[in-house]
Amino acid sequence: MSNPDVLIVGAGLAGLCCARKLHKEGVSFQIIEASDACGGRLRTDRVDGFLLDRGLHVLLTAYPEALAELDYDALELCAFSPGALVRHEGRFYRVSDPWREPGTFLTNFFSPIGRFSDKFRIARLRTALLNASIEEILEAEESSAMSALRRRRFSRRIIDRFFRPLFGGAMLDTRLTTSSRQFEFIFRMLAEGDAALPARGIQAIPEQLAASLPAEAILLDQRVHSVQPGQAKLMTGETISARAVVLATEGPEAVRMLGLERPVASRGVCCLYFSARESPVDEPMPVLSGGSRGPINSLVVVNQVAPGYAPPGENLICITVVGWPSRDDQTLINMVRGQLKRWYGLVAQEWRLLRIYRIDHGLPVSFPLEHQQNPRLQPGLYACGDHRSVPCIHGAMESGRLAAESLLREMRNQPDPPPRKRSSAGKHHQHHSRPAPEPGSDDDFD
Ligand SMILES: Cc1cc2nc3c(=O)[nH]c(=O)nc-3n(C[C@H](O)[C@H](O)[C@H](O)COP(=O)(O)OP(=O)(O)OC[C@H]3O[C@@H](n4cnc5c(N)ncnc54)[C@H](O)[C@@H]3O)c2cc1C
Repeated sequence: MSNPDVLIVGAGLAGLCCARKLHKEGVSFQIIEASDACGGRLRTDRVDGFLLDRGLHVLLTAYPEALAELDYDALELCAFSPGALVRHEGRFYRVSDPWREPGTFLTNFFSPIGRFSDKFRIARLRTALLNASIEEILEAEESSAMSALRRRRFSRRIIDRFFRPLFGGAMLDTRLTTSSRQFEFIFRMLAEGDAALPARGIQAIPEQLAASLPAEAILLDQRVHSVQPGQAKLMTGETISARAVVLATEGPEAVRMLGLERPVASRGVCCLYFSARESPVDEPMPVLSGGSRGPINSLVVVNQVAPGYAPPGENLICITVVGWPSRDDQTLINMVRGQLKRWYGLVAQEWRLLRIYRIDHGLPVSFPLEHQQNPRLQPGLYACGDHRSVPCIHGAMESGRLAAESLLREMRNQPDPPPRKRSSAGKHHQHHSRPAPEPGSDDDFD
């Protein structure tokens, strides 16, 4: 292998976006990826004609970095309908977005999912966030998402029946201890654009990014053992040198290799896919558990959103369980099936389990949330990934590009830009200390 200018460890979104920027600037690079394909956490398996994303992901089309980097038309994005069906006390309630579906506002008015005052509070929050810049949102005074909701005087009802399953699912944290900055960023993205799936599976996103790179610059099935400025040692013992190394692995692996300044804890998630002849819902929207007993946080009939995920005549049902259930698979499956029977009756017993995914590192615990962390650890050594930004597709992509830009400045002997003036960065709401990381927690559904 000839020595490239830059070694990038990891071919997730961050590594790929870093490579794309370097490639555009004519800098040579080599990506070294431990697994058998690009994509990192965004992977799709084909099973019996179904497309199974390794944990249901959605692309929020308003993500600024995705808008800038991805060709949405080529991805053939299929959007969810705005809103959700909420399971509460034996019934399903439709909660829609009154700004996008004005005719449904009255349905909302009589819904037990929230109080009338909550609707005004949602409107106020939405207006405030749409009027703020992304920087203002990500550098605003910080507390837990739960505290922020309480401070805005949302009712317990709407927090438990709507915010907890929807945003707890997106942040893999149903206790809502996650940063209010992350919560408000996602809220803003949902208000501004669609939640969508690529027609051919979520892995189409990294595949599109990788397609613009020279194939020989991506080395798969090679795990890096350790790194230092300008050098990476593979598990095979081989050492590769370059002018700089960018570590684009997930946070815990970056910490293992580098001893970063702060550890990165994980939020886990579990995902069960079933096939069914009949769809339990007839709209492309998620079903949320609004306090119903059992492990399920949400259910999506994936082919209602993107038909190509299931073969003709079949339905693909994705169940998300937030956390890392300590139960063995069979016990968890039985618990999920029990809850599905309560929701949909005996017919749910006929659904065929296709696969169960347990993902121990779904998202990093990021509190306080510092987006756009300086990627330059020392000369010749950089780090990027969702643990150094907002933990999501946008944050991972942006952090990769920023690492490349910082590296290009070092190569060209250009000074770093002055640190941005942060309005209230680093401020935390007085009542809130760092929430305890909760890897492995499954208390929520006991
Ligand atoms: C189930 C689930 C659902 C999610 N849902 C959403 C969602 O709906 N919307 C959203 O915006 N985000 C979602 N996310 C988060 C999103 O997937 C991540 O934020 C993003 O993919 C992180 O990208 P990354 O490049 O930082 O890291 P990763 O994707 O983890 O990439 C790191 C890469 O480094 C490689 N690597 C690790 N160690 C080594 C080594 N020693 N040597 C070589 N290679 C190595 C790994 O194999 C991997 O390919 C979800 C995550 C999960 C797990």
